[in-house]
Amino acid sequence: MKALVYHGPGKRAWEEVPKPAMKAETDAIVKITKTTICGTDLHIMKGDVPTVTKGRVLGHEGVGVVVEAGKAVSNFRSGDRVLISCITSCGKCEACKKGMYSHCEQGGWILGHTIDGTQAEYVRIPFADTSLYRIPDNADAEALVMLSDIFPTGFECGVLNGQVKPGDTVAIVGAGPIGLATLLTAQFYAPAEIIMIDVDENRLAVSKKFGATKTVNSSDGKAVEKVMALTKNKGVDAAIEAVGIPATFDICQAIVAAGGHIANVGVHGKSVELRLEKLWAHNITLTTRLVDTVTTPLLLKTVVAGRLQPEQLITHRFKLGEIMQAYDTFGNAAQERALKVILTNE
Ligand code: ZN
Ligand code: ZN
Repeated sequence: MKALVYHGPGKRAWEEVPKPAMKAETDAIVKITKTTICGTDLHIMKGDVPTVTKGRVLGHEGVGVVVEAGKAVSNFRSGDRVLISCITSCGKCEACKKGMYSHCEQGGWILGHTIDGTQAEYVRIPFADTSLYRIPDNADAEALVMLSDIFPTGFECGVLNGQVKPGDTVAIVGAGPIGLATLLTAQFYAPAEIIMIDVDENRLAVSKKFGATKTVNSSDGKAVEKVMALTKNKGVDAAIEAVGIPATFDICQAIVAAGGHIANVGVHGKSVELRLEKLWAHNITLTTRLVDTVTTPLLLKTVVAGRLQPEQLITHRFKLGEIMQAYDTFGNAAQERALKVILTNE
C-alpha cells in the first residue's frame, strides 16, 4: 500500500510500504477513507518531536472502514464505518479508568508517533473497542475527521478546562484550527463575549463568521492593552492559549481577570515565565492537558444533531495520493488561507 513516510527532519515521501498486519487480538485494521494533516505533523517534519523515528507513517486523524477485527474485538466487525481517535486507549489501566486516556499505559498519542498512523491506505488500530467510534449512517464523514483530534482538543483543553460559563468573557489566543474549534465549542455555553486574538487578518475575519464577538490583531504587540480596553480593565474570565509560544502565554497571564482561568492548549517547546508576583493574589486557575478524547461521543451527537458544523474548518480537498502537495499547502497556511485539508482515499 501507499503511505506518507517520515524520513527525518524536512524529508517525507509518499511511497510503497507493507500493508499493516494484526499484532494482537484487540487490534483492527481500518481502510482509510478520509484523513487530514495536523499542525503537529508539521512540528514532526521540522524535527521538533524526536520520539518520531525515521520510517514512521504519519497521521493521527481520520475515518475509515474496518476490514479486519481481532477475535477480542466485540464492538466492531468488518464493514463498519469508524472514526479513529487520535488517542489510543486500552480502557483498563488506571489512567483509562480515570478517563485520562491521553495517559493510557499502553496507548495515549501513539498513532503517527510511536506506531504507524493514518496518512496511509490502511492503518492498524490497537485496542479497537475503546479507540474507535462508530459513525452514524446519516453523518458527514468529512465533518467527523475534525473530531479525531482538533474538536476534542479545543473543547476539553480549552473550553472545559477554562470552565466557560454563560455570560463569561472569553479570549482565545490563536485563530488556527484548534483556536477555531475552541471558538465553535465555547458557544455551547453561551459566553457573553468571545475575543479572538491572532496576527492574521484572514483568520480573524473567519473568527467573526464563526461567532467571535470581537477580534484583536496582535501583530503590533498591543494585544493586552486592546483586550483590557474591551473589558473595561477587568480582563477575561477564561484566557485560552492556543498557539504554544511564550508571547501568547504572556498575553493570557496579563488579561486573565481576578478569579479567572488560564487554559493552556498550545504545545510548548520553550519555557515560559510564570508571573506569580502578579498572579499569586489573583485567585486564578491555570490548567494544562493533553486531549483525552473523552468527549468524542458527546461531540459526535452534537454534529449529527446539527448543533456543531466542524466541516466549516475545511478549506482544501485533495486525493490521498496528492498528500505531498497537501503538505505544501498546509505548511504554507497563511498564504494559502488554509485551515484544514481533507484527503480522500478513492
Ligand atoms: Zn493533531
Ligand atoms: Zn489504558
